[in-house]
Amino acid sequence: MPPYSLVDLHTHSTASDGTLSPTALCQRAAAAGIRTLALTDHDTTEGLAEAGRAAAELGIDFVTGVEISVGWNSQTLHIVGLAIDPRNRMLQEGLAGLMVFRDWRAQEIGRRLAKMGILEAHAGAMTYAKGRMVGRAHFARWLAEQGYCPDPRSAFGKYLGRGCPACVGGDWASLAEAVTWILDAGGRAVLAHPGRYRLSGARMRALLREFCDNGGSAVEVISGSQAAADTPHFVRLAREHGLAGSIGSDYHGPELAYTDMGRLPPLPTGLTPVWEDIGEAKIRGKMNTMC
Ligand code: AMP
Ligand code: MN
Ligand code: MN
Ligand code: MN
Repeated sequence: MPPYSLVDLHTHSTASDGTLSPTALCQRAAAAGIRTLALTDHDTTEGLAEAGRAAAELGIDFVTGVEISVGWNSQTLHIVGLAIDPRNRMLQEGLAGLMVFRDWRAQEIGRRLAKMGILEAHAGAMTYAKGRMVGRAHFARWLAEQGYCPDPRSAFGKYLGRGCPACVGGDWASLAEAVTWILDAGGRAVLAHPGRYRLSGARMRALLREFCDNGGSAVEVISGSQAAADTPHFVRLAREHGLAGSIGSDYHGPELAYTDMGRLPPLPTGLTPVWEDIGEAKIRGKMNTMC
């Protein structure tokens, strides 16, 4: 068996666009050999209390998390917050604002699809979101189920992805806001899946400088949603900027084509693991009452 990372600091549940409940996600993580798990739902901390309880029962270390949607120079970026206190007011007010935008955007996606002759998409997506965070993945599942595309992934290529007719620009958080909310909540900010952004080398460095200046801690050098061949490049960039490294599968559920939990390589040597720092916070007792 190749050496796998026992740490997974980027996953999703039904609190956002994952398909497993927080409890089922923790059970699957434990079965996959994960010892330290973060739940990082998009713009919400709703699943953390349940996941924290399930992880404790299963004997795995649980790290509170969130994945914040950020607009940066006409790009959408994702910033993962780890070891956050979900009761933090600044964080929750920030996330509430993003939810207002999400609800409007979902309606706008519905209107744009209706213009293309695809009716009732908003209502359809809402049946998948079940009153929780609504995102493009819920539209993608409905579009596939209705036969508008062969699978949810292809809905992004045809309708929902960048440059597509139902792609609605984002009024997300700024990079400074997202990092500030995370820090105010006592957490560490991690640049999620850097391999997924379309940025030149110079722009990526500008992003990392701004991220550092605002108090960012780490880069996800290994992600289930970016190519493994990218890892050495992002390790170099992290080191250059004095940032720690993180690992996350970005798991969304068994029926979706994401890397499974427990199948990522360990962090390369020469990089500080972001969870070492989090481990210390835990030992200092800061996280004991968080969920
Ligand atoms: P949202 O935050 O609502 O814009 O949705 C972003 C989510 O959509 C991502 O976290 C993925 O779950 C999903 N997603 C984005 N692009 C793709 C893609 N090309 N294929 C499959 N899922 C995607
Ligand atoms: Mn997602
Ligand atoms: Mn993401
Ligand atoms: Mn994610």
